[in-house]
Amino acid sequence: MSNNIRKQLVTYALPYANGSLHLGHMVGFIQTDIWVRFQRLLGHNCYFVSGDDAHGTPIMLRAEALGITPEELVRQIQIEHEADLKDFLIGLDNFYTTHSTENQALASDMYQRLQKQGDIVKRTIKQAFDPVKNMFLPDRYVKGECPKCHAKDQYGDSCEQCGATYTPTDLINATSVVSGATPIEKESEHYFFCLEKHEEFLKEWTHHNNHLQPEITKKLEEWFSVGLNQWNISRDAPYFGFEIPETRGKYFYVWLDAPIGYMASFKNLCQKTNGLSFEEYWAQSSHTELYHFIGKDIVYFHALFWPAILKSSEYRTPSHVFVHGFLTVNGQKMSKSRGTFIKARTYLDHFNPELLRYYIASKLNSGIEDLDFQQDDFVARINSDLVGKLVNIASRTASFINKLFAGRLAATIADHVLWNRFTEARLVIEKHYQDREFSRAIREIMKLTDLANQYIDDHKPWLLAKSSEKINEVQMVCSFSLDLFRILMTYLQPILPTLAKAVEDFLNVPLTWENLTKPLLNHTINPFKPLLQRIDLTEVIAMSEESKEVIEPATEITLKTTVLEEDPIRETITLEDFAKIDLRVAKVIQAEPVEDAQKLIKLVLDVGGEIRHVFAGIKECYEPEQLIGKSVVLVANLAPRKMRFGVSEGMILAAGNGGKNIWVLEPDPNAPAGARVK
Ligand SMILES: [Zn+2]
Repeated sequence: MSNNIRKQLVTYALPYANGSLHLGHMVGFIQTDIWVRFQRLLGHNCYFVSGDDAHGTPIMLRAEALGITPEELVRQIQIEHEADLKDFLIGLDNFYTTHSTENQALASDMYQRLQKQGDIVKRTIKQAFDPVKNMFLPDRYVKGECPKCHAKDQYGDSCEQCGATYTPTDLINATSVVSGATPIEKESEHYFFCLEKHEEFLKEWTHHNNHLQPEITKKLEEWFSVGLNQWNISRDAPYFGFEIPETRGKYFYVWLDAPIGYMASFKNLCQKTNGLSFEEYWAQSSHTELYHFIGKDIVYFHALFWPAILKSSEYRTPSHVFVHGFLTVNGQKMSKSRGTFIKARTYLDHFNPELLRYYIASKLNSGIEDLDFQQDDFVARINSDLVGKLVNIASRTASFINKLFAGRLAATIADHVLWNRFTEARLVIEKHYQDREFSRAIREIMKLTDLANQYIDDHKPWLLAKSSEKINEVQMVCSFSLDLFRILMTYLQPILPTLAKAVEDFLNVPLTWENLTKPLLNHTINPFKPLLQRIDLTEVIAMSEESKEVIEPATEITLKTTVLEEDPIRETITLEDFAKIDLRVAKVIQAEPVEDAQKLIKLVLDVGGEIRHVFAGIKECYEPEQLIGKSVVLVANLAPRKMRFGVSEGMILAAGNGGKNIWVLEPDPNAPAGARVK
């Protein structure tokens, strides 16, 4: 262990507080969390903070649509986000919000520091204004026909068809998304941050000390060559945010106070933590390390605005900004209608969080390319790597130690060469973690896992155990295998913290980086309990079905389409194909909610002489009590599916695309339970 304990502050980009977290958010949080857990495993002092980005027009309008205050909306969302992150085992020290007194104080103070430096200028500009709602409209809130190529339904800043850029009022038949009114142009005075004054500093900063990944530095060169512009940091009322000091009806643009939210979250943590000093981490003279993990869509804000503002207001600048790519699902952008826009909570209703953590880690590297969640690949990877190889080492050997030796491990190492190979891998695995090359770390660990299984295959303890004179050998081989398992689980601890904890309990020893070099000998372990189970593709498909949503018309202006245009009839099947599906009338005897699953109802069905338990994702539309006594149609020969809450023995039929659009099919109540439907 290095005596050189580092002091680190790590942040992950603040999710926007107008909706649920989805698997795209989880990629970044998981990446950051693995890195943080690795630093902590090495013994470093690593703080990890984040929070919700709570301000701006979208949140104001969404709260209005829901009939609640924006404060109430962001409070509710913060609770939801925090629960999701906790359940994904994201080891945050603080999850805060930008709508906080700390953030207001910091933002106002930094603004005044910028003013003192002469970095703030005032200018009057013309903007699109909604005369009905009496508010200025962000570009994305104006739609109309492109003045150049006449494509309909384009946003106010640029045309998605021909790529032309323009101002909202250039649109033909422009309308406000908020009220439907025709926007007018109106003048207003705004406050600008003089980014261009910091060009020299930024060129220097972005090119040195690996502050950024090489591909990001290259991207910034393009922006430098176009030239840096003054940045409008103000918005007119009505706006949900902080009023700018010494102004009336002028608010900080959400993107000004969002990154300051990192500081505010840390400041809030300092207030709760004895001896933790805000100054030590943020003063210009700080010797601590500051790391921001972000997605590639917000590089401009974090690699240009943020360091410039920090420097101008005399704070320290980041040690590194680490950028990651986006998540695609089955090779495509996530889509609500395809069911690939999977919410964090929907995933958790179906699977153990560590499976996604492992899968994401197996694909992550230090680059910014997108990574793909492939349904089949996910199932294969988990079943092969984690169940088939990793935990199999313990399940193949533990019972011999438990049963034949009362849990006592052998006193010597069975194979020194192999043991050294395992412990020496520490250096390369450590480097991969440090460099955020998690997929390489996993490849290295899986190579070792194969070697451990090969060792067991070669020595066959189940055969040795048959002859009493080889009983010592059984103990040697199984003890050694379990020690290899301990080393592997230590390496995987940043990715699989809960599994690692279960293994600590089983092996009765802490999994620490220090213990890697100490063999586990003459030691008593606890009885082995199964650690992980295989997963099934049908469960992934069920998760995807549950994620299918009809896009809310209130938030998206879409041309009216028919039901069949949105969801066309599938290819023709034969009568034989159809006859394979055994549909039966079933009576609901019992219906109850499922704890921790927001969408599921557990049904007990009478199928005319047989009782079935079925989990149905219909809770958003039905109260369990409403269903008791009803007749439903059951797909009776569907293979049982193992879910987190139990086994689902079939599926009941319902119409609709999911979410709030589900209508359970009810046969004529006279039809007896068990009757075939054809
Ligand atoms: Zn166009």
